[in-house]
Amino acid sequence: MIAEVIVDVANKEVDRVFDYIARPDTKIGERVTVPFGKRFIEGYVLSLKETSDVPQENLKALGQAKDDYPVILPEFLALNKKIQKTFHLRNVDCMHLFIPTQLRNGKAKPLYVNFIELTDDFDDRQLLENTRKNATKQIELIKHLRPDMMYARTELNKKFGSSNVAKLLDLGVIRQVASVKMRAPFRFKKEDKKITLTSEQQKVVDSILTEREKQHLIFGVTGSGKTEVYMSIISQVLSEGKSAILLVPEISLTPQVLSTFTARFGDNVAILHSGLSDGERFDEWQRLRTGQAKIAIGARSAIFAPLENLGVIILDEEHDPSYKAESNPRYITHDIARFRAEYNRCPVIFGSATPSLDTFYKAQKGEIILHTLPNRVNAKPMPSISIVNMCDEMRAGNSGIFSAQLLSELEKCINEKNQAMLFINRRGFSSCMICRECGYVAKCEDCDVSLVYHKEDNLLKCHYCNRRYKALTNCPSCGSSYIRMGAMGTQKVVEELRARFPNVKVLRMDFDTTKNKNSLNDLLQEFGNTKPCILVGTQMIAKGHDFPSVTLVGIMNADMSLHFSDFRSTERTYQLITQVAGRAGRAEKEGKVILQTYTPKHYVYRFASNYDYLGFYGKEINLREVAKFPPFSKIIRVLVTAEEKDEARATTARIYSKIHDYFFMHRNQFLYCEAMSSPVSRIEKKYRFQILCRYLLDTEPEITDFIYDTVNQDKHTKSLVFVEVNPSNMS
Ligand code: ADP
Ligand code: ZN
Ligand code: ZN
Repeated sequence: MIAEVIVDVANKEVDRVFDYIARPDTKIGERVTVPFGKRFIEGYVLSLKETSDVPQENLKALGQAKDDYPVILPEFLALNKKIQKTFHLRNVDCMHLFIPTQLRNGKAKPLYVNFIELTDDFDDRQLLENTRKNATKQIELIKHLRPDMMYARTELNKKFGSSNVAKLLDLGVIRQVASVKMRAPFRFKKEDKKITLTSEQQKVVDSILTEREKQHLIFGVTGSGKTEVYMSIISQVLSEGKSAILLVPEISLTPQVLSTFTARFGDNVAILHSGLSDGERFDEWQRLRTGQAKIAIGARSAIFAPLENLGVIILDEEHDPSYKAESNPRYITHDIARFRAEYNRCPVIFGSATPSLDTFYKAQKGEIILHTLPNRVNAKPMPSISIVNMCDEMRAGNSGIFSAQLLSELEKCINEKNQAMLFINRRGFSSCMICRECGYVAKCEDCDVSLVYHKEDNLLKCHYCNRRYKALTNCPSCGSSYIRMGAMGTQKVVEELRARFPNVKVLRMDFDTTKNKNSLNDLLQEFGNTKPCILVGTQMIAKGHDFPSVTLVGIMNADMSLHFSDFRSTERTYQLITQVAGRAGRAEKEGKVILQTYTPKHYVYRFASNYDYLGFYGKEINLREVAKFPPFSKIIRVLVTAEEKDEARATTARIYSKIHDYFFMHRNQFLYCEAMSSPVSRIEKKYRFQILCRYLLDTEPEITDFIYDTVNQDKHTKSLVFVEVNPSNMS
């Protein structure tokens, strides 16, 4: 037999399948050692076949398998080609998606530990009678042990004394089992709420379970009980002997969320996320691979959880940008979910209070079945959102960062010993130009996206068509010279709050303050325990947190995400406002949201403040259709980076000339195709250039393939070239 093997070398030149002479016991999907040139390296067996085109004398023999079981699921081998083709990934990139890093570098090793359990025929009454009355520790130990539970021997030794444990072993009351210890990351104690689904929820569950081979969207307001719907469906598929994947954005993987699931499903849950140690992650993966755990919960990469016989795949907060992997290997989680669901003939469920335009558009077209949960389970209204015009504040003589209304609400909140959250979106590096007098924002005349200020050449540029404009010194609309770059960070807000409210605790939660493993939880805990308290933060505060005493949410500068130079910026703004607003008034106390903006008339605020998603969707999808932006077109960016500016420019020019020739032959398909320097022209000492293409979807795969092929054929190794589809970050 011949084994087709992918070798684990990240090199374009060797990214193909190599033939080796198989061992008699070779299994498809196994990880093996193979001779490669003068070395021995790791490889993965993709398939077995009878004969090879390689002459017999040139074939080398496969080494030993490295694990007890094939590490790659048969399903992944079946989907490999499809995934590769869709995302233009190399073989080895795909293998890296399927197999955890910890396993690949062989860093994480199983941990063997001795466990103690009660013997089966054990009768505790009889035993207690037979145990000497003064052996109190032994009696305690017996009472401590429960049937069907295993206890680490070292733990019992510590608590009850090793001689007592040994004595009971001698008596045959307990026995020792050696087992691979799972470094179970979180095991929270939380009572499972006994909940009966509302008829609205039940209807969604039923209709999803009767249309199993379809894609579904649960469009439900925050607090409408989507999580309960997920859990009910998971229970059902588990009872059928199947498994389940639930994905949530990394940032929402809070202990609160996880404990809800572990309380219901116990050890059947495996959690995969970046906060785990290598060992923990490996163990969780292994529990899934060996069938000990049937539910995988995790961020994006958990879509590759090694579960067989999937009964459901769920993407909660499906609109979240983190579902798109934007560095190598690049992929879109929604698509992988769809592939796996098709393979397993199980439903995919997307859930959101603010679905992405792409997903909702598919639901409108009938590709995805739409389910709506319009009401909150506790029937509490969503908190009211007041829009404050910061230009008016300015005119009234308040040039600070807090509006009068926000300040008075803050005071009220503090006096009532409640909590407030202030949200400030710092995303982006170079900010737009905005007139503080009238709210004018510099926009491209051709594209209707805001221009981005480029410091090094003092110009405003359009990231979609590269048109340039002079930087503003005066507002073209009202003549005012109050032009600013609109950048204010969390730190500044905290500073001003501390000056204004010296006796109130002010906490900051952003990337910088949550770098350490436990800092996020510590912060959340401190916030939970402090009243009054103000929490200032970025997107991080927007997700999933449930603090009953938060009565006020302030959105410091809503426009910041709005004028980010991205065709999705309005959509993002809508999602953010809804999400942040959802932090207020979750329990008994009524919540209030103050939204500060320089462009109060923008339609996104009108719709968002009324929680009118459908209205927003209708307007936005129309604009996209007219302007031919996704989902009505595809945007591709070819990003070229190199240490030498000329090198990067030359590579860009070479690739561009080929794409441009193609563009001329397919003019009716292309909307746009230009090369330019990137908005951030240098990052980490590398110069950056880009080619932007936008084209209609009719012959889309051909154009996309052509662009990928062109890039792949450019064998210049001094530049790095990436292709990005509908990129959300254009920096
Ligand atoms: P969502 O995920 O849509 O924001 P959740 O599933 O988190 O909503 O539900 C919000 C709250 O309502 C939770 O505290 C949950 O326990 C509770 N809840 C959900 N469904 C029910 C129900 N049928 N009966 C009682 N409480 C419920
Ligand atoms: Zn102006
Ligand atoms: Zn433009």
